[in-house]
Amino acid sequence: PISMDDPIEEHRICVCVRKRPLNKQERLKKECDVITVPSKNVLLVHEPKLKVDLTKYLENQAFKFDYSFDETASNEMVYRFTARPLVQTIFEGGKATCFAYGQTGSGKTHTMGGDFSGRAQNASKGIYAFASRDVFLLQGQPRYRNMSLEVYVTFFEIYNGKVFDLLNKKAKLRVLEDGKQQVQVVGLQERQVGCAEDVIKMIEMGSACRTSGQTFANSSSSRSHACFQILLRRRGKLHGKFSLVDLAGNERGADTSSADRQTRMEGAEINKSLLALKECIRALGQNKSHTPFRESKLTQVLRDSFIGANSRTCMIAMISPGMSSCEYTLNTLRYADRVK
Ligand code: ADP
Ligand code: MG
Repeated sequence: PISMDDPIEEHRICVCVRKRPLNKQERLKKECDVITVPSKNVLLVHEPKLKVDLTKYLENQAFKFDYSFDETASNEMVYRFTARPLVQTIFEGGKATCFAYGQTGSGKTHTMGGDFSGRAQNASKGIYAFASRDVFLLQGQPRYRNMSLEVYVTFFEIYNGKVFDLLNKKAKLRVLEDGKQQVQVVGLQERQVGCAEDVIKMIEMGSACRTSGQTFANSSSSRSHACFQILLRRRGKLHGKFSLVDLAGNERGADTSSADRQTRMEGAEINKSLLALKECIRALGQNKSHTPFRESKLTQVLRDSFIGANSRTCMIAMISPGMSSCEYTLNTLRYADRVK
């Protein structure tokens, strides 16, 4: 394990990478681990079993990020350096976003929602839950206690450019933009929550809704973006908003030449939204006046989070360690590299 200092608080955009461990099947197949994390912000992609000459790789093959996490990092650890520094932002009336980006199976849902693979769900150990826990913690602190802030959550999915409410039986919702350029998801359920346990129920409910009726082979969750939001309201008015997004598998964006028309259309849509997302984050980082948020439903819905002086964002690029994932891993790293 790499020793870490406290996270840097003032970053407007933070880009991190997380490597998951080889899983049981991969170990059985003697899959090679081609990823090494030699320090807290460097990550190397290297040939299997090759004795890595770190100095050589540091010159040639290294990717640098704000933080890089190896397979020993826990969800709590990743949270501490990614989403946690953004919680304060929403109390100060700002907008925060945190994105999990990467190939299907790289650990996006595990990191954000907690591990749902076992029989017992562990929603309390994901970034959605950790962030909510800290929101209640801050809400109770003397400096915020008298602000009478109320906490709400929403949970929705964007699939093929359409929005579905995960807290309301996947009801299909319309997105409207008014004359003042305010974007609204019409009829989206906002559930008021009073404690961390309330939130965990919502996460479990929404996650179950997201995956209901899916077989493993035809999992639509890899082709949809899931967005969990924590809203702070003050006398009914929106005060701050934290959007935590489990993005569609980035390999799906490559499905644009599939024989199947539906798959092809979905692939094009995913491609478009991930490209638009990258541009919107870059625009935020460079304080550009033009933000191309209209390019996709995802960026349109998150519009208010990409503008304004008090908006901050964090991207966690998830990668699989195996040799067979190498090509997608490199795509993921290059994408994350260009966000900043
Ligand atoms: P994604 O949402 O990116 O498709 P998942 O989060 O579903 O991927 O992860 C795929 C599998 O790998 C799951 O069974 C998950 O529990 C496991 N996994 C992912 N990341 C980790 C990790 N850091 N440690 C242990 N298991 C993990
Ligand atoms: Mg997933």
